[in-house]
Amino acid sequence: MHDYSLIASNLKNIVGENNVLKERVDLALYACDGETLDSAMPDLVVLPGSTGELQAVVKAARQHNIPFTARGAGTGLSGGATTVCGGISLVLSRMTKIINIDPQNQTALVETGVTNSAVSQAAAKFNLCFAPDPSSQTASTIGGNIAENAGGPHTLKYGTTTDHVLGMKVVLPDGTLVTYGTGSICRLGFDWLSLLTGSEGTLGIVSQATLRLLPVAESVETALAYFPTLESAAQAVSDIVAAGIIPCAMEMIDQLTINAVEDSFKLGLNRQAQALLIIEIDGSKLKVEREKNKIASMLEACEMLSFTWAKGVHERAQMWKARKAAVAAYGRLASHGYVLDGVVPRSKLAQALNTIKTIAEEHSVLIANVVHAGDGNLHPCLLYNGSNEQEVARVLKASYAILKMCVDLGGTLSGEHGIGIEKAEAMPFLFTADDLSVMEWVKKAFDPDLCCNPGKILPNPAICGESGRRPLARHKLSLAC
Ligand SMILES: Cc1cc2nc3c(=O)[nH]c(=O)nc-3n(C[C@H](O)[C@H](O)[C@H](O)COP(=O)(O)OP(=O)(O)OC[C@H]3O[C@@H](n4cnc5c(N)ncnc54)[C@H](O)[C@@H]3O)c2cc1C
Repeated sequence: MHDYSLIASNLKNIVGENNVLKERVDLALYACDGETLDSAMPDLVVLPGSTGELQAVVKAARQHNIPFTARGAGTGLSGGATTVCGGISLVLSRMTKIINIDPQNQTALVETGVTNSAVSQAAAKFNLCFAPDPSSQTASTIGGNIAENAGGPHTLKYGTTTDHVLGMKVVLPDGTLVTYGTGSICRLGFDWLSLLTGSEGTLGIVSQATLRLLPVAESVETALAYFPTLESAAQAVSDIVAAGIIPCAMEMIDQLTINAVEDSFKLGLNRQAQALLIIEIDGSKLKVEREKNKIASMLEACEMLSFTWAKGVHERAQMWKARKAAVAAYGRLASHGYVLDGVVPRSKLAQALNTIKTIAEEHSVLIANVVHAGDGNLHPCLLYNGSNEQEVARVLKASYAILKMCVDLGGTLSGEHGIGIEKAEAMPFLFTADDLSVMEWVKKAFDPDLCCNPGKILPNPAICGESGRRPLARHKLSLAC
């Protein structure tokens, strides 16, 4: 057994007395992320204040052979920051410096505990922005965004985080500090930045990042359209893209969500609609005007109930509220919500949403849907009562059925929330044993002792030290199909 009191006092010498937490009441706050179905307490929480401190903490953890898991804001939705093997929760929320905004090269150099929206706010002075825009952006950190390869409503046009990272300082699992990427969009040799982005903190901890900034668009137009069926809404999405227009966002919510949002926020939404679509276009004034006219005539020609363009900033914000407040509104429907993340080809959106309805009925689970429709990224929200174990078991079974369906339709297991612990056992739906063993090989090349965020991504991964895997709800219920 580890002597955590001794380790804690060593770590206090590195990060200061107040930045090592070991009381149960404090540790409990770090036992899970936004995926609250599964939780496991860390043995210590450590908050380094600089790259040097982070490196020293990792070296100390290695010396004692204890696992460590990076944590940003803990908004992750796949259990990535959950310390499934105990050990140290390494929280980067003190590392929030925006070191430099370089308007000439359109880059930002930041510490990775800074929030996503703080970067765009700092860049706004130069009419620049950081394009990845997860809905959690006021809380989630750049480190968490890099680790999960976060996307957002505007992924359709601007891509995910990996398209906007130009350099990183990374503390490897043995405490070595390495620099990947030069800050230029040109990359050479092994593409370390791409490998590290989306690796969910399993290959190292990113302490600083050079981010690519983009000019703020000259013009933006946003439309809200109502549809009588999921099929007609999905068809409109496909038609717009097929016409050669790439909106910066196309977001769909279903009728259950429309009603929950309307009950909560009284936005005046049409409750009769089976689907609501938000379409946003941006670019130069000329281009936006041309696309606006084209979209308007396409919508008029399709099977829809009504559509309207936002007149000004306030109306645009109200339209977006219908989408962004959806998860909060689900609180009216159930005490617990589990936001799933799967992807299907855009052309199979309607089929996927109808199958989710069937899965909901088969497992007696209430499921509402928000969808990044443009990129086929589904977020079915499974609503349940967490104190009812049978209901939790049905929710987990339904979630695996949905993930399987996504893969069967030619899609994938995650658009942006990552694999974490949530989907590790679903990885064989998509990958062969050979595929998985190559991933394990990469993991071991970076982390031979398997101490860096153990228990994530790979099914049945080996673990580090003596801590041992802590039982998670999904493993206790042994539900993997
Ligand atoms: C209401 C809500 C809306 C959301 N909307 C979106 C959305 O639109 N798009 C989207 O992509 N996600 C969304 N998410 C999920 C979540 O916000 C993202 O995954 C986000 O990137 C996590 O950031 P975080 O700082 O909270 O990371 P955490 O949850 O703390 O950690 C996530 C993972 O990153 C690792 N990690 C954290 N920091 C580092 C680091 N510096 N170096 C290496 N690894 C690190 C952790 O070990 C863990 O595996 C949403 C979540 C909520 C609660």
